[in-house]
Amino acid sequence: MFCKKNRMAVWSLCLSVVLLWGLAGCSFSQKDQTEPGSAVQTDTGSAAPTTEAIQPEPEPEPALPASQQESDQHAAVMEDPDAPAYAKEYPGLYSDAVREPNVLHEEKVCYLTFDDGPSSTNTPGILDVLKQENVKATFFVVTGEINEETQPVLQRIVDEGHTLCIHANEHAYGKLYASTEAYLADFAEAYDKIYDLTGYRVQGFRFPGGSNGQVNSSGCYHEIVTEMTRRGFEYYDWNAYDHDAEGGNYSVEQMVQFAVHEVNISSRNDTIMLLHDTYGKEKTVQALPSIIRQLKDAGIQLLPIDNTTRPVHFYVSDSTPPEYVEPEPEPESEPAAQEETAEGSAAA
Ligand SMILES: [Zn+2]
Repeated sequence: MFCKKNRMAVWSLCLSVVLLWGLAGCSFSQKDQTEPGSAVQTDTGSAAPTTEAIQPEPEPEPALPASQQESDQHAAVMEDPDAPAYAKEYPGLYSDAVREPNVLHEEKVCYLTFDDGPSSTNTPGILDVLKQENVKATFFVVTGEINEETQPVLQRIVDEGHTLCIHANEHAYGKLYASTEAYLADFAEAYDKIYDLTGYRVQGFRFPGGSNGQVNSSGCYHEIVTEMTRRGFEYYDWNAYDHDAEGGNYSVEQMVQFAVHEVNISSRNDTIMLLHDTYGKEKTVQALPSIIRQLKDAGIQLLPIDNTTRPVHFYVSDSTPPEYVEPEPEPESEPAAQEETAEGSAAA
């Protein structure tokens, strides 16, 4: 039996339990929405991270030009207080070729070399002839002339197994031979371009005009040769020539005769032949098959320049340049007065 008072008390108790349960349920729902580590949905629908931030991928470092890359050969010169400033430039501009140029050939051999290319007009024709005749040759290129049209030709020279060497970046005597610094700057530009385009590290070069040309009268010939030799690069002049430059304007037949004759009369068993593959040298392309056939018929082996090739040097007879000797000063017109001055200077 319940009295009215007791019924009211039971009713109040039930209402309180329902209210408390309702509040507790509400708080569980809120907790569910805020689990630690979960992402909170924003108004825009994107997930805002609450723990680790996603880092953007770092930009790859731009690769240094080949001539600026560090190399072991450069370390010694950096510690040499007497080394000239230009020797400390271009830490990657070194050739590590191990040369054995004293291999004397018992039989006659000839290295066909092409200067001033690549050209879009004549280099492909020369490469076709070399391929047909199964001959490997050497190309001394002018990199400043390389453009979209000739870039595949440069790659073809490498792909078909020929030797690639530097002639210059810019075939401009005055600029090139103004100083040792100027020569190195041009060479480094050519070296970097060839490496960028082909992945090929050049080992050899030829002075524009030859080593007895403009470079020899520039006043820094010995310095340039000493520095290039220190860096391991070898230069190659020539002792046979088809006379396809210098305004000779010979016929194709005459050019063939010159080339073959100069190999035949050479006192050396190994000849390095100069030819040109630049624009306007169509006759060289026409002469090449006969030059190759006549040399082959005479039993002469045709080879690309490599580390066993004995270089031809116009100015010096071996790869070590002679020490540069300052020329004697011209005597003054009044020798007595000159002697007096000299004595006076020494006394001071
Ligand atoms: Zn040239």
